[in-house]
Amino acid sequence: MSDHTWFEPYKIKAVERIPITTPEQRAAALEEAGWNTFLLRSDQVTIDLLTDSGTNAMSDRQWAGLMMGGEAYAGSRNFYHLEETVRRVYGYRYVVPTHQGRGAEHIVSRMLIHKGDTIPGNMYFTTTRQHQELAGGTFADVIVDEAHDPQSRHPFKGNVNLERLEKVIEQAERVPYLSIAGTVNMAGGQPISLANLRAVREIAHAHGALVIFDATRAVENAWFIKEREPGHADRSVAEILLEMCSLTDGCTMSAKKDSLVNIGGWIGLNDPDLAAQARNLCVVYEGLHTYGGLAGRDLEAIAIGIEESVDDDHVRARILQVRELGEMLEAAGVPIVEPIGGHAVFLDAKRIYPHIPQEEFPAQRLAGEIYLDSGTRTMERGIVSAGRDPETGEHRHPALELVRLTIPRRVYTSRHLAGVARSVARVFERRWTTRGLEMVFEPTYLRFFQARFRPLES
Ligand SMILES: *Cc1c(COP(=O)(O)O)cnc(C)c1O
Repeated sequence: MSDHTWFEPYKIKAVERIPITTPEQRAAALEEAGWNTFLLRSDQVTIDLLTDSGTNAMSDRQWAGLMMGGEAYAGSRNFYHLEETVRRVYGYRYVVPTHQGRGAEHIVSRMLIHKGDTIPGNMYFTTTRQHQELAGGTFADVIVDEAHDPQSRHPFKGNVNLERLEKVIEQAERVPYLSIAGTVNMAGGQPISLANLRAVREIAHAHGALVIFDATRAVENAWFIKEREPGHADRSVAEILLEMCSLTDGCTMSAKKDSLVNIGGWIGLNDPDLAAQARNLCVVYEGLHTYGGLAGRDLEAIAIGIEESVDDDHVRARILQVRELGEMLEAAGVPIVEPIGGHAVFLDAKRIYPHIPQEEFPAQRLAGEIYLDSGTRTMERGIVSAGRDPETGEHRHPALELVRLTIPRRVYTSRHLAGVARSVARVFERRWTTRGLEMVFEPTYLRFFQARFRPLES
C-alpha cells in the first residue's frame, strides 16, 4: 500500500476551465473520430489522460523563463544554460537539442545503425523502433519475461534478461548499441534496476556495443530504485539519476515527460566524435545545433524544468498520485498491470474483455467506452500500437493488450482522478455487453495515431 501522507508540493496560481459534455455529444464526437482517441479534439475531452507528454503544468519559474528566451539564431544563452544543466543533472558531456524525443531518436538511429544491424532493447517503444527500422536495423526484445505478464509483481519489470541479451548479440551480424529505457513505457511504466543496468553495460562493452539510454522517464525510474533496490533508500533521486546515466554512453530524451515542459528534447553523448556527428545531422534535420528546432524560450523552460524534476518531494507526489488512481481501480476490482507504474495506470483489456479476440481490438474499444462514459480520454497500448511485422505484413500480437491512463504532471487533483476511477468501474461493470471493433482505415506508419474504427455490433 502506498503512503497516504503525500501532498502536492505546490499551490495553484492559474487555472483552465475544462469542457463538460453530454453523452450525446460524446457519442457523436467518438464516431467522428473513428473510435480513435487521438482523433478527438481537446475541447471534446473532460479529463485528458491520453498522455503525460507535453501536457505538464509549468511552474511560475518556467513561465518567467520563457520571457528570458534569447531568440538568437546561433549560440542562444538559453542553449548554454540547458547544456550546463544537463551536464550537472544527467552527467553527459555533450548536449544536442532536438524538437522532441523522436528527433533525437532519428539522429541517433541514423548515426549508429547500418543496414542489417540488430538493436537489442528492454521492450520496444513505438517511435524508437520505427526509427531503428527506417535506418535499416531490427529491434530485438530482451526484456525479462515478467514484463509481458500483467499480473507479475516483479519490482523491476524493466530489467533485461541477460542470458537472452548475450544470445541475441552472439547471433547478430552486428550490434551497434543497446537501446535501454528507464521506466519502460510499453511494459506499464516499469523500472530497470541499477544492478541490471550495470550488468547490461558490462555485456555491451565486452562486445563493443554502446548503451544508449532512453532517458525520457529516467527520473521516475530513479524514484523506484530509491523505493525498491536495497541500499538506495537514503539517496536522493538526483544522485541515483546521475549514477544511472553514468552507466550509459549516451541518451535520447523527450523533455515533454520528466522535464515538465510542453515541447523539446535532446541527445546526450560523452564521445566527442559521436557528438560532432550528431550536431552535424542536427543541422540537416532539426536546425542549428544550438537550438535543434526549438525557440530559445523553450530551451530555458527545459533547463528550469530539469532542475524542478529531480526534487524528491516533486517525484514522490508524482508517483504516489498515479499509485492512488491504481489503488482506487484495484478496490473496484478492475484488472490493471501490477505493480502500478510511474506515469500511468494500465488497464488489462485482455482480462476486462476476455470475450473479445485481439484482432477485434479490445483495448481500442475499452478506450472508446471510457470516453463515452465520462469524457475521459485514454490511449490504446496493444495490437493497434504494435503495428504490423515489416517482413510478413501480419499484425504483431503483443502479449499485453492495455489501455493507458496517463497522468500529466501537476495538472489534475485527486478528485479528478476519483471521478475517472468511478467511470472505469462503470465501464467494467457492463463489460459483457461490449463487443469489439473493426479497423476501417490503416495508415502506413505508427498506425495507432491515425487509424479509424467501427463498432462491430452496428
Ligand atoms: C514519448 C517517448 C518518446 C518519443 O518522444 P517524443 O517527444 O514524443 O517524440 C521516446 N521514448 C519514450 C519512452 C517515450 O515515452
